[in-house]
Amino acid sequence: MIGSQVPRIAPFARTIAIAATSLALSCLCVPAALAGVAGVARVGGSNAGTFFWIEVASALVLVFSGIAVWMVARYQTRRIRELKRQAEKLRDSDFGEPLHVRPGELGELAAVFNDMRDKLKATTISRDYVDSILSSMNDAIIVTSNEGKIKRVNKATSHLLGYEDSELVGTSIDYIVNSRKSGTLVGDTPSGLPREAFFESKFGESIPVSYTCSFLGGKEAESGDRIYAAQNITERRRAEKRIRYLARIDALTKIPNRMQFQHLLQRSIARARRGARALCLFYIDIDHFKEINDTFGHLAGDTTLETVAERLTAALPQESIIGRLAGDEFAVIVDGLGPDKPGRKQVDLLAQQLLDRLADPFFVQGHEVFMTASMGIAYYPKDAPNVIDLIRNADAALYHAKKTGGNVFSYYEPKMNEAAVERLMTKSKLKRSFERDELLVHYQPKYNLETGEVFGAEALVRWELPERGMILPSDFIPIAEETNLIIEIGEWVLDKVCEDFRFWQRSVSSPGRVSVNLSLKQLRQPNFINRISSILRSYEVSPTSLELEITETTLMENPERTIKLLDQLYALGLHLAIDDFGTGYSSLSAMQQFPISTLKIDKSFVRYVSTNPDDATIVSTIVQMGKNLNMDVVAEGVETEDQLAFLQKLGCTYVQGLLFGNPMSSDSYIELLLSQAEGTDTHRALFA
Ligand code: C2E
Ligand code: MG
Ligand code: MG
Repeated sequence: MIGSQVPRIAPFARTIAIAATSLALSCLCVPAALAGVAGVARVGGSNAGTFFWIEVASALVLVFSGIAVWMVARYQTRRIRELKRQAEKLRDSDFGEPLHVRPGELGELAAVFNDMRDKLKATTISRDYVDSILSSMNDAIIVTSNEGKIKRVNKATSHLLGYEDSELVGTSIDYIVNSRKSGTLVGDTPSGLPREAFFESKFGESIPVSYTCSFLGGKEAESGDRIYAAQNITERRRAEKRIRYLARIDALTKIPNRMQFQHLLQRSIARARRGARALCLFYIDIDHFKEINDTFGHLAGDTTLETVAERLTAALPQESIIGRLAGDEFAVIVDGLGPDKPGRKQVDLLAQQLLDRLADPFFVQGHEVFMTASMGIAYYPKDAPNVIDLIRNADAALYHAKKTGGNVFSYYEPKMNEAAVERLMTKSKLKRSFERDELLVHYQPKYNLETGEVFGAEALVRWELPERGMILPSDFIPIAEETNLIIEIGEWVLDKVCEDFRFWQRSVSSPGRVSVNLSLKQLRQPNFINRISSILRSYEVSPTSLELEITETTLMENPERTIKLLDQLYALGLHLAIDDFGTGYSSLSAMQQFPISTLKIDKSFVRYVSTNPDDATIVSTIVQMGKNLNMDVVAEGVETEDQLAFLQKLGCTYVQGLLFGNPMSSDSYIELLLSQAEGTDTHRALFA
């Protein structure tokens, strides 16, 4: 626009040039003309008077010309000064007002100058905008060259590391990385996926960060410049550590809980196997614990359990591992003692010492309490080759000891384990039932905690045997997992769910999101993706209606392979959830690499959420962390209104549990959805 004024200005300049030339010419011509007039006058009048007037006229012309030149020069100087002032302002990033454009060469210059100012202003504003975005970001942003040289950092980076910008620009990115813990970030392959590293601050503090690295300007950019966006995850790490601690340690006795004990037993067995050694497992149960509880109250019961843990810890060799497996059941791993004669002698002695020590009376609230315990003993590898069987066999020996009257210990013998035989029978019965299509799928609704509306359901497989009634998955899924039957069962469940879903869709527009549990073996099938898509296609069910639940342990089994697979499932449109969160050993940060949208808090944490402060901390931390990672959080196993109220206060997203009834048949689920649509449902009152 400014540029378009320039041609209009050129004629003005020409006019001024002509005027100036005319003025100069008149300066020369007027005296000449006057001289001519003087010549004529000389002929007819007095000479002296005439010359006087000529001189006056000449002087006047000269004075006026001088004034005119002086004015033009002054005007020009003012314009030039104005231009200079504006240029200085621009240098200091002060854009001021645009210059007034007047005709003339300087006017053209002013117009060009204004044009330049406008362009510079636009660039500066957009640069300032980017700067203000960068400096108001909470994430530390670091831009590096392809060779890892830092080109730019934002305020959050300086804040995180305690350096001035100028101290970082020009150094290698590895200057701020704790190389001992994180190696090098130079040449990092940008993937856009969050990774973890340790940065080191100016004061030598190691800071855990979660960061992403991408190419600046996209993959195609030739410069290879990278942009790192890092977040301080110290708090998250601390919270996770606490969750993990609370999840592994029994809150009452402060010794490992069942989950942790099994994990430690697994490690001990692996060590014993490597060293070709034996180990010995004691399974201990307090005799008539229920009576102590009933007679003296729960507080006395708690004190009894604490006393058992203390006495076991004091009486056992320091390297022994003690755990509380359930209510009044404890277990001990004694490494290095085998079933050979000398080993057996030592175990006899130790077992008797423990029972004697436990039988010492103690006082609770002024009452003297007598307690005894019974003990079952099994050896690795003689009695069982793995954790599950070793615990089961020690338990079988304990059962035997109890039957003898208590306050004794028994060694495991194969004949004690009728359960093992039963297990074998169950396996073949399950196969037969499956082939005869005798399995069922029940649905447990999930409710939106804010509105009380049904959001979807979890599909749970059931097995009904005429002689035993309904068998729950916890009793037969592990058996199915031992064989490939779990693959067939899993696929059948998926098929059944899609069939039911198609049926529901005919009655209600949106039957919600249905989740299906997946086992590791299913996930490992080479053609899993194809199978799942073909099932969805054949029932015309949208993948977005389905959620796959995968346990934390399954996810971490082979993370790299699992990420690829889950990415493909996610790309299909399926939702993915982590099941039984909190019972595994992975970190939530590690979970970030999977395309997971839902976190399911294991019911073991929910059970005492309104009564046990430790469980309350675990649950509230998981809910908070889930929210921070933009995940929906489902609390499983809600049985009481107190638990519901607690979870509501925390801002948990969804709940499921027996509080709203037992998992139901497909027909009952659609009835529930219909009653909700008609407003005749009853469950919603619970959420008010
Ligand atoms: P899960 O996926 O954690 O399922 C939740 C379990 O909690 C279900 O047990 C459910 O009935 C139970 N539950 C729900 N609400 C409550 C409550 O308020 N209190 C209590 N105490 N329990 C509640 P279920 O049906 O016995 O299933 C156990 C596990 O078996 C499931 O745990 C899941 O891991 C597995 N499972 C079930 N169906 C399938 C399946 O189709 N395929 C595979 N691979 N696993 C399955
Ligand atoms: Mg589940
Ligand atoms: Mg679960």
